[in-house]
Amino acid sequence: MSMFTAVEMAPRDPILGLNEQFAADTNPNKVNLGVGVYYDDNGKLPLLQCVQAAEQNMMKAPTARGYLPIDGIVAYDNAVKALVFGADSEPVQSGRVATIQAIGGTGGLKVGADFLKKLNPQAKVLISDPSWENHRALFTNAGFEVESYPYYDAAKRGINFDGMLAALNAAPAGTVVVLHACCHNPTGYDITPEQWDQVVATVKAKGLVPFLDMAYQGFGYGLKEDGAAVAKFVDAGLTFFVSTSFSKSFSLYGERVGALSVLCENKEEAGRVLSQLKIAIRTNYSNPPIHGGAVVAAVLGNPELRALWEKELGEMRVRIKAMRQKLVDGLKAAGVKEDMSFITTQIGMFSYSGLSKDQMVRLRNEFGVYGTDTGRMCVAALNSKNIDYVCASIAKVI
Ligand code: PMP
Repeated sequence: MSMFTAVEMAPRDPILGLNEQFAADTNPNKVNLGVGVYYDDNGKLPLLQCVQAAEQNMMKAPTARGYLPIDGIVAYDNAVKALVFGADSEPVQSGRVATIQAIGGTGGLKVGADFLKKLNPQAKVLISDPSWENHRALFTNAGFEVESYPYYDAAKRGINFDGMLAALNAAPAGTVVVLHACCHNPTGYDITPEQWDQVVATVKAKGLVPFLDMAYQGFGYGLKEDGAAVAKFVDAGLTFFVSTSFSKSFSLYGERVGALSVLCENKEEAGRVLSQLKIAIRTNYSNPPIHGGAVVAAVLGNPELRALWEKELGEMRVRIKAMRQKLVDGLKAAGVKEDMSFITTQIGMFSYSGLSKDQMVRLRNEFGVYGTDTGRMCVAALNSKNIDYVCASIAKVI
């Protein structure tokens, strides 16, 4: 009898579990479209040139590793503010944004959730149906009751926007609404700029608390374009939360580089909010790690490296779009009668393929093509070598 006798085995993480299954698969043609990671055309995880250059510069002038301030590297936090709101924007210029360096986008969400729970313990949290699978667990673990607003409409191969808006309208004031700022994970469907206007107006009218999750800035249409939703909330005069992740946009997954920004009413308020965010950090992990944040700050703070980053980010974005088109064309060429062109109307890393769980299981077991049971495929893992095989495999299960 041990103190852990009654401990139950937790269910496997659906995506990481898929990875394990993939690793054990002996099919030489296997393709992993499960996890949300960008691979280049050779199927390799890229190490961006801008990152290598920044690291080489850092090697030339090695520094000791003292603790960072609780809220992270000042230059990093300032770079995040500039990226999210615009360097010359009123919120940045007036100093009313509180930004902290976080352990990935996940860490930004968690620090925000902990702060919100103290601020408004009774509030409910609304996430999209479906959403990134960690949203529900993260906010539930922070003590919130989590519900969802309608989002994906399978029959329409798009968004149930009326349903989404109705749910926001029905939510009590103070409800925290988690919104994907761009490149919705898992569906790949984003609402239009006009629909964002309606969401902003509803959030404002109903007194909801917007929490924008921006994990893919630059993967959709461009840095500024992908930040357009943030600008709309600013223009509406709202105060809100934005989490940032550089995991994908810098291909720095394992460095855990992210942030949380809270737009406040004025500078003095931002100072008070920042002091509370620091308490959430201090009591969780004390202060963030140095390396990833230092790399991102070095790239964003150097005009040449910044230009190189934007070029490399643009190449990733363009390659994903080319793969979407190749997928549509390839499926047609492989004999799929159904119109699959919806894949090119989706944006970001993922595609909700519309395939059923049975079809996804067959894809995996018979062809070694791994996506999630929900039909989500990571388009950013397709390349010129595996695309024909993936198309032929999908054609056989449709
Ligand atoms: N939000 C969404 C919507 C995501 O897809 C992800 C990453 N898959 C995250 C947050 C977390 O990002 P990070 O890996 O930087 O913690």
